[in-house]
Amino acid sequence: MTVLVTGGAGYIGSHTTLLLLESGYEVIVFDSFCNASPESIRRVEKLTGKNVNLIEGDIRKRDDLKKVFSVHKVDAVIHFAGLKAVGESVEQPLRYYENNVCGTVQLCEVMAEHGCKSIVFSSSATVYGDPHTTPIKEDFPLYATNPYGRSKLMVEEMLRDVYVSDSEWKVVLLRYFNPVGAHESGQIGEDPSGIPNNLMPFIAQTAVGKREKLSIFGDDYDTHDGTGVRDYIHVVDLAEGHLKALEKIASLNGVLTVNLGTGQGYSVLDMVSAFEKASGKKVPYEIAPRRSGDIAKCYADPGYAREVLGWEAKKSINEMCEDTWRWQRKNPNGYTEIS
Ligand code: NAD
Ligand code: UDP
Repeated sequence: MTVLVTGGAGYIGSHTTLLLLESGYEVIVFDSFCNASPESIRRVEKLTGKNVNLIEGDIRKRDDLKKVFSVHKVDAVIHFAGLKAVGESVEQPLRYYENNVCGTVQLCEVMAEHGCKSIVFSSSATVYGDPHTTPIKEDFPLYATNPYGRSKLMVEEMLRDVYVSDSEWKVVLLRYFNPVGAHESGQIGEDPSGIPNNLMPFIAQTAVGKREKLSIFGDDYDTHDGTGVRDYIHVVDLAEGHLKALEKIASLNGVLTVNLGTGQGYSVLDMVSAFEKASGKKVPYEIAPRRSGDIAKCYADPGYAREVLGWEAKKSINEMCEDTWRWQRKNPNGYTEIS
């Protein structure tokens, strides 16, 4: 089976590509490298001893996509390509809608033209907005509070409409909670450009001495220690969820929407102390004002994923921190300092 992985050089895409290769899939990675380095895929090839067909291209460019589909018979697409920084999406909404929404329109049109109608889409827990209660189930009300989140919601709705118009489509919408960690080899991991927005890479860069201290955004939330609670999920567990989705897609009728989370919520302070324990390093921090748009608690009900995909997250918070630390220590500047 041949799988096209858009955005496959990125953080989640590279880990998923590795597992796909290990499981015997033929993989084509399609990436513009706007937020990634081809080095991630070189390392995946080294780790697996297998070749990846790596194609530089942009999902917004129909000709780039056509070149892939006219040469290869693609059986399914795992669609990671997208921009993901919430703050940036507020400043540059049109760029986000163009990339994430218009890019997906182009992708689906070219897929349909070539008879490929199976897609696994990277959605996000952000589509639940500020949930009325936790844990979050897939049938909770949806709303987004920023252009990034709205771009995810729009694509979800668009893919549902596509299925309604043509029942040959098979669509899996995977709503990720908070991906963290890295491959246990320490060879591939998250490589954010500039100052990280997300907690885990910020903690890791602070522990390695690249950042002076972590700002904890608020300690007055209604949580066990006042800091925000999230469902951190190891990226390798998340990648495995994609393989389960692919296994499911062949027999799927319609659109399947699934949370990928652990079901366990940890606070910012829990993450700091787990990281200190795993790394043996201090993570200096200060309490700062709340970050606008943040919510108190967000964690998944993972029951439906277990039921329909036979998948559940296995890796502990300690493994998430140890693996992040190994990646950070071995690659203090991400993929950039490569001979
Ligand atoms: P990432 O930035 O590491 O990977 C995205 C990849 O897509 C990058 O390699 C980038 O170069 C590529 N890309 C972007 N626009 C493109 C375009 N127009 N054409 C071709 N390639 C393009 O991000 P990630 O963390 O691996 O996230 C993957 C997907 O999962 C994204 O869609 C993201 O919105 C979604 N997601 C991520 C998180 C998270 O916290 N990491 C949470 C929920 C959902
Ligand atoms: N957070 C923080 N300092 C940071 C980055 C994040 O205190 O430098 C907090 C944030 O307020 C939230 C949690 O860590 O409670 C997770 O934030 P992240 O941006 O990683 O994910 P998201 O907000 O998308 O769930």
